[in-house]
Amino acid sequence: MMAESGSMPVRATKRGDERTPLDGERDVLVCGASFAGLAVARELAGSGADVLVVDRYEIGERQTSACGIPTEWLRRLGLMDAERQRFDTLTMHLPHGTARYRLPWTFSTFDYRQLCQLLWRDCDASFETAKVHGRAPAAAGGAADGRIAVETDRGTISAPLVVDALGWRRMLASGDGYQPPEAPLSRGLEVHPAGESEDLEIWIDRRYVPAGYGWSFPARDELRIGIGSFDPRFHVKDTTVLLTEDLGKEPNEYQGNWIPHRIRRGTEGGVFFVGDSAGHCLPLSAEGIRTALYFGIALGRELRGAVEGRQTREEAAAAYAGFHDSHEWKFRWMLRVQKLVPRVPPRVLWPLIRLMGAKRFVDWSFRHYLRIAPPEYAGTGLPGGSAHDQDGPGQQQDDAEDALGRERDLVQAEQA
Ligand SMILES: Cc1cc2nc3c(=O)[nH]c(=O)nc-3n(C[C@H](O)[C@H](O)[C@H](O)COP(=O)(O)OP(=O)(O)OC[C@H]3O[C@@H](n4cnc5c(N)ncnc54)[C@H](O)[C@@H]3O)c2cc1C
Repeated sequence: MMAESGSMPVRATKRGDERTPLDGERDVLVCGASFAGLAVARELAGSGADVLVVDRYEIGERQTSACGIPTEWLRRLGLMDAERQRFDTLTMHLPHGTARYRLPWTFSTFDYRQLCQLLWRDCDASFETAKVHGRAPAAAGGAADGRIAVETDRGTISAPLVVDALGWRRMLASGDGYQPPEAPLSRGLEVHPAGESEDLEIWIDRRYVPAGYGWSFPARDELRIGIGSFDPRFHVKDTTVLLTEDLGKEPNEYQGNWIPHRIRRGTEGGVFFVGDSAGHCLPLSAEGIRTALYFGIALGRELRGAVEGRQTREEAAAAYAGFHDSHEWKFRWMLRVQKLVPRVPPRVLWPLIRLMGAKRFVDWSFRHYLRIAPPEYAGTGLPGGSAHDQDGPGQQQDDAEDALGRERDLVQAEQA
């Protein structure tokens, strides 16, 4: 069932009679074809495994974010054709003034459809549009022979290796489903009016959101203007309109979602979770694309080891869970800061923000921030990077973990 390498389905999401039954067994089933799912599938290219990717929409059909990412991640993965605009400064607006930071690395906005198509170009998996309902009950063969069965609106598909890259709903987990607004979720909403700007801007201003921030991410000929609230009870629609109008634009093309801000388990009940389904979005910034790619690559490498017979499924699960868990403390720290910032009175926050504008501090903090999911982890950037990479996957992972260990020591030393 391998699709032709490099082919990209051009059909729109299948409807009506086109939704033929879909069932049977695969080697790997990846549920969700956005950043995390595509990163996993891409790492499995050339492994010889029968990999099926499913999503309720066609690949790249539904943009899920403002699509901002450190440029180096695009470069490493050969995705530069999707880049729309690049920034080397960040402008931060507070009620008391505006600060402009020169960044030690650049940030880019990209075209969602094109980026997904480029990721898919490097996969040799097959793809089907199907809505995932959840795991099939054990009585219906849900866990026979170590295989996991997944129910979709087109039938039940089973595989020994199943990935949930379905976003915050974490549909393949058992019983720990999140229900907004009680769950640890942020909410984000944005609009995409036509326009141009040179500035990557954010607003920390209670006029727009009591806990969270507003943004304007230019993408060549459109502005992606939005509000993210760390408090899921705060409705962001009115203030998204307010910020858009303050910028002299008309709100249009609303696009929003819940954003997990607490890391969750990386494996559960034999299923692998990655991206938003594992809470891999960074709590303070709500940046979840590079982390979805980063953990997606890590998971893909482990699954590749399993399909190539270098390790068992259980060993792959243990290795991925270990990698995931080794990052947990960073997410916890960012969540603490996320909760702290809204409590700081604006008159205190402004001098702090100005102090933090010192070049040495900006360089130090942004470099540490990038290292949470460093672009070097993508290795050579070739699909199945582990196979092409001279150091091999183990070394790559060791390097990343060493770097994390050094940072942990640093933070602990600073606290002492
Ligand atoms: C308004 C907004 C702006 C954002 N801006 C940025 C930004 O600029 N930079 C950044 O790094 N992060 C940003 N984020 C966060 C980022 O969008 C997420 O962290 C990221 O998309 C996570 O990727 P993912 O692949 O895990 O999940 P998703 O991108 O959510 O993909 C999940 C996939 O699963 C599919 N799916 C879901 N349910 C089902 C089902 N039942 N059956 C079949 N398929 C299903 C969906 O169609 C989708 O393709 C933003 C979030 C929001 C809400």
